[in-house]
Amino acid sequence: MEAQKPGTATNKRYWLILVRSMWVALGVHVMFIALFYSIGATFLAVVNIGSVCIYALCVGLLRQQRNRLVIFLAWVEVIGHAALAVRSLGWDSGFHYYLLIFIPLIFVSPTRKPSSKVGLAMLLCFLYAGMDAVMRVVPPLSAVNPLALVILRYANITACFACLGYLAFFYSKIVGEAERRLRIMATTDSLTGLYNRRHIIGIAEYEKMRRKRSQHPLSFIIADIDDFKSVNDRYGHEIGDQTLTMVSRQVRGVLREQDSLARWGGEEFLMILPDTGLELAATVAERIRETIAATSSRQGEDELTITITLGVSECRENENIDACIARADQALYRGKKAGKDCVERA
Ligand code: GH3
Ligand code: MG
Ligand code: MG
Repeated sequence: MEAQKPGTATNKRYWLILVRSMWVALGVHVMFIALFYSIGATFLAVVNIGSVCIYALCVGLLRQQRNRLVIFLAWVEVIGHAALAVRSLGWDSGFHYYLLIFIPLIFVSPTRKPSSKVGLAMLLCFLYAGMDAVMRVVPPLSAVNPLALVILRYANITACFACLGYLAFFYSKIVGEAERRLRIMATTDSLTGLYNRRHIIGIAEYEKMRRKRSQHPLSFIIADIDDFKSVNDRYGHEIGDQTLTMVSRQVRGVLREQDSLARWGGEEFLMILPDTGLELAATVAERIRETIAATSSRQGEDELTITITLGVSECRENENIDACIARADQALYRGKKAGKDCVERA
């Protein structure tokens, strides 16, 4: 996986939200130009051409990662636009609702401190309430057709709901994606992609509980690559890593869908075989041993062949997981002492 600076992924996601927001704002303001022009508010139509230019500039600035300047410009545009529009057409036109879209954007920002987020939200609230207080007593500058005003208000309400809904949907999507990635990182080994030790223990506990109810057998296999240190010493750590990945893939290929496989340690693997007794588990282990022994890879002049030793155990009634795995481990140790490249039953 590509190395990243801490927090970079969060910044990238925030940046994506900004890019989406700027495109949405640009689209909305293009529609406003037509809308204002059609109701005779030519001044506001011209103001909106300025807004479209600002958002186009923001999209360009985001390509250069100038997030702060973009946010500043967006603030100026939204507040300026809302103030001009409600001053010109009246409070009932509903342009002040757009200020509310800033609330999620303020709180999603990864760079601001919590205190500055609260401060900004309060400032926004103060601005909104201030505009409300003034505009309710000051008459609008231009009188537009009352029906046009009603249409504008509902168009603005709909647009604000759509923007907020879109932002929430997009945010939940990227948070879901981040959660998925974190879950993978927390449960798997980065080199082989197999489950890690912690996760497979959880699976083992679950299978043990299930076995108690169903009375079906449950077996474990521990496998350890033979003389792996000499592979590293002879061909280097990178070839060692590639060998580990290759062995993982082959072991996974022999196992059934319902079996679980984890990287138990450096060059050790643990397998859980639900609904499988000792003899069947030993047959699976033997198939794994044969598959690994039959595979070779070319390393310069040499033909690199790997062998693996496996220990198999079946869970006894009332035996805990650790004890059962320990018996498989002892069987593996016996296999190593007996000359390696073999399967030993506990
Ligand atoms: P045995 O047959 O008795 O298992 O001998 P062995 O050499 O396989 O076992 P030993 O415990 O002496 O050495 C294990 C080696 O595995 C040493 C360590 O450098 C290597 N190893 C562990 N994890 C990794 C890894 O992630 N990548 C690589 N390349 N090597 C690893
Ligand atoms: Mg080994
Ligand atoms: Mg070992």
